[in-house]
Amino acid sequence: MCAWCGAHLPPATGAGRPRRYCRRSCRQRDFEARKRARELGLAESDLIVARKAVEGLDDLLFVLAWAISDIEGDLALDSSPDQLKRSLDWLLEAAKPLVGASQRLRSAG
Ligand SMILES: [Zn+2]
Repeated sequence: MCAWCGAHLPPATGAGRPRRYCRRSCRQRDFEARKRARELGLAESDLIVARKAVEGLDDLLFVLAWAISDIEGDLALDSSPDQLKRSLDWLLEAAKPLVGASQRLRSAG
């Protein structure tokens, strides 16, 4: 996978170092990010994200946690096919926004 954007890399051909980036601009952005991280004294594992992005994720996780506890309570009382269907719908409704938020985080990186 590309060390910057995570895209799949074509299989290595012949000798030489395996490539780490899918294109020149990814290598450049990674280089600049590392340089900036050194200037700021950040470790390789540190990640800077916008407060808004983290709060958005946290809100969505809160909704998911709430849905899970709701569903567990419902299913303890009634595990009929109808209730299972409603529970699954509710779980998907709560979980899907997290996938979108994750994709937005990646594309913002
Ligand atoms: Zn890339």
